Amino acid sequence: MIEIVTGGPQDADLLVVPVLAERMPATSSPFAPDLGSFDALLDARDFTGKAGQQLFIQTPGAATAEALLLGMGDDVDVEAVRRAAGTAARAARRYGTVATLLHDLDLDGADAAVALGTHLGAYSFDEYRSEPRERRFNTLILVGGDVDSDAVADATVVAEGVILARDLVNRPAEDKPPAALADIAAGLDPGIAVTVYDERQIVEMGFGGLQAVNRGADRPARMVVMEYAPEGASHTVAFVGKGIVFDSGGLSIKPAASMEAMKTDMAGAAAVMGAVKAIAALRLKVNVIGITPLTENLTGGSAQKPGDVMRAYNGKTIEVLNTDAEGRLVLADGLSLAAERAPDLIVDIATLTGACKVALGPAIGGMFAIDDGAAETVADAARAAGEKFWRLPLEQEYRTLVDSDIADMKNTGGPWGGAITAALILSEFVGDTPWVHLDVAGPARCDAADHYLSKGGSGFGVRTLVAVAEALAD
Ligand code: MN
Ligand code: MN
Repeated sequence: MIEIVTGGPQDADLLVVPVLAERMPATSSPFAPDLGSFDALLDARDFTGKAGQQLFIQTPGAATAEALLLGMGDDVDVEAVRRAAGTAARAARRYGTVATLLHDLDLDGADAAVALGTHLGAYSFDEYRSEPRERRFNTLILVGGDVDSDAVADATVVAEGVILARDLVNRPAEDKPPAALADIAAGLDPGIAVTVYDERQIVEMGFGGLQAVNRGADRPARMVVMEYAPEGASHTVAFVGKGIVFDSGGLSIKPAASMEAMKTDMAGAAAVMGAVKAIAALRLKVNVIGITPLTENLTGGSAQKPGDVMRAYNGKTIEVLNTDAEGRLVLADGLSLAAERAPDLIVDIATLTGACKVALGPAIGGMFAIDDGAAETVADAARAAGEKFWRLPLEQEYRTLVDSDIADMKNTGGPWGGAITAALILSEFVGDTPWVHLDVAGPARCDAADHYLSKGGSGFGVRTLVAVAEALAD
């Protein structure tokens, strides 16, 4: 992690300077270079201060020899600051110590935004490179202003949760079998009690969806339950994350190109792990239950076959007509297990449907809920955290699309409204517990680096889940 300190810019290799639209100064810091003396250069480079613009300039005689000007546009909110900090962190890779004025804006939450954006923007996944990529950036100095160091520390904890999720998502499937992920969950934090159900206990408990999906894989499944229960907490939230370590589609096999990114089909479970770790480290006063059904979806000789029927933990049966719609099968068990604990709120998070990505694109997650109050709680949390979700209808009229000839339901609803029919299936497993379903098939994976996002796993959802826990905390 980047070390974030306060101080002057004198020891820094680079000074990051925010600039508003029309080249208006965004900070009154005495260390900000006088842009007027750079007019000719800024004109030549067409730097106006538009959001997203960046320009390195030489500043002889100033506190640092170089400065990075960052365009902020004319509508600066905390997300703009997070993004600018991420952009700066990626651009500043070859500088060891970077000083910034980005937090010195007249904006609540700017310190935390700079910390989060910096940590996430500086992230890269180098576990598998024989030569690590050059990354000298190790210290960020917040120059001047009244820095809220608690907020910086908390944002750093949240960033660590996001980074854990990114690392797990980016790791090859071969190197993250369910048992290994369960071990990682068990070691997250001494304040988290972890129960791991192995393949024998999965059968005994009746986690029929997880068992059915796992039948085609050699490596056994795991159901992981993480519990954080601080003294005196009066509310309980359960998070359930889809943990398909690799999704080949099973016998309803995917085309090769669609399989390339399928090591990321456990991004929901990774988000739950990252969030529970962060919540425990922040010592939020709320009970949290994190549930991650973990398995691969492969095509071994015992693989489930289209037409098979499985029985989930709550007793309901699903006829499996497409083995590639496997997320809902393992979530059926995870959600029933969560509902049995009668929390105040269940939030599940899953790379569930391509249909949701078609509907909302790569930057926005889908949100479904029966209860408007629960939806509002999660929507407010997501907004505060800076993650985008859009609520889609849980249209009961479509329930007939998943009617089965022989079981309580079937696992596919035909070609249209696939994100909705998937959510309707999940709704069968939560009973009366307030519940919100987050479909992150789009934003969990990132096709190109941008601001604080790196290519690959995004850790999307961690920040929202932490904010949900904050909202329910005493
Ligand atoms: Mn699938
Ligand atoms: Mn899947």
